[in-house]
Amino acid sequence: MRRALITGITGQDGAYLAEELVARGVDVHGATRSLDAWAQRLGSIADRVRPHAFHASDRASIRSLLDDVRPTLVFNLAGPSFIPACDEDPEAAGDVLGLSVARWLRTILEFDPSIRFFQAGSSEIFGHAASCPQNETTPRRPRNAYGAAKSFAYDMVRFFRERHALFACTGILFNHESPRRAPHFVTRKITLAAARIHLGLQDEVRLGDLDAQRDWGFAGDYVGAMRRMLDRDRPDDFVIATGRRHSVRELCEQAFAVVGMDYRDHVRVDPAFVRPGETHLLCGDPSKALNELGWRAETPFEVWVGAMVEADLAKASADS
Ligand code: GDP
Repeated sequence: MRRALITGITGQDGAYLAEELVARGVDVHGATRSLDAWAQRLGSIADRVRPHAFHASDRASIRSLLDDVRPTLVFNLAGPSFIPACDEDPEAAGDVLGLSVARWLRTILEFDPSIRFFQAGSSEIFGHAASCPQNETTPRRPRNAYGAAKSFAYDMVRFFRERHALFACTGILFNHESPRRAPHFVTRKITLAAARIHLGLQDEVRLGDLDAQRDWGFAGDYVGAMRRMLDRDRPDDFVIATGRRHSVRELCEQAFAVVGMDYRDHVRVDPAFVRPGETHLLCGDPSKALNELGWRAETPFEVWVGAMVEADLAKASADS
């Protein structure tokens, strides 16, 4: 039987990935720094996944986790994901997002080199991208602490794959969203605000650059690409993206339209949320994932934005 270990399982992608693997008969174990949020974050899947606590900064902790679980697959999703927070503490970002990947791979090499390893990479490695759209050969130019750490992790995966023949892959994940997204990310900030404004619980929402664009997809689709990458005959890196860009303004239009409102009546631009060194040209070219994994982002923009607003309407009504 295949046994998967998912690190950072209480983050947005963890529950989707656990659902995907459990549905395919995989024995799923989840590791996280603290088990406090386990039931709340994993919801209906919580009792089908075995919990473990671990520290990504400690090789002994990684080793003892491998010893306890004896996985055949490791999905490494752990670490902070909010870019401004990483910029404020670049050492922590570098340690958990970058160095810890070297720790994992070295420990796997010593413990059991047949373990397959998936690394959650990021479009932020492209930063001020040299060309658009970005694919697996686009030069990396990270512009923030998060992107720099993810770029180091990408190099470590390739190093252990090429030098030590580990089955290690990076999914270069473009932004992916869902009702499980934390509320400080712009998608969820907007869908929660649209719901609360509709219910009369707040009047307006303050955002940064409305013209900023991202290649946004649905997180539930992206975990399917992670699984497929470890199901192949040989390890490789893949861009996982929709291939389409939208602006923050379009997100606002779409989310407020779901509740029959015009975003212009409720959205205010606040310079406090405008980012210095913003990366504008991030858009992935997912052709390799389509051709070699048979994967594509299935859920349209309108559908997942609508689902996020509906989920936030239910949540905001229940909380009020
Ligand atoms: P990121 O791409 O991982 O940083 O995801 P975010 O959801 O935090 O930001 C996506 C884009 O939305 C970036 O270009 C931000 O600059 C832009 N943005 C505009 N206004 C806001 C805001 O109020 N909050 C956040 N988080 N992002 C904003």
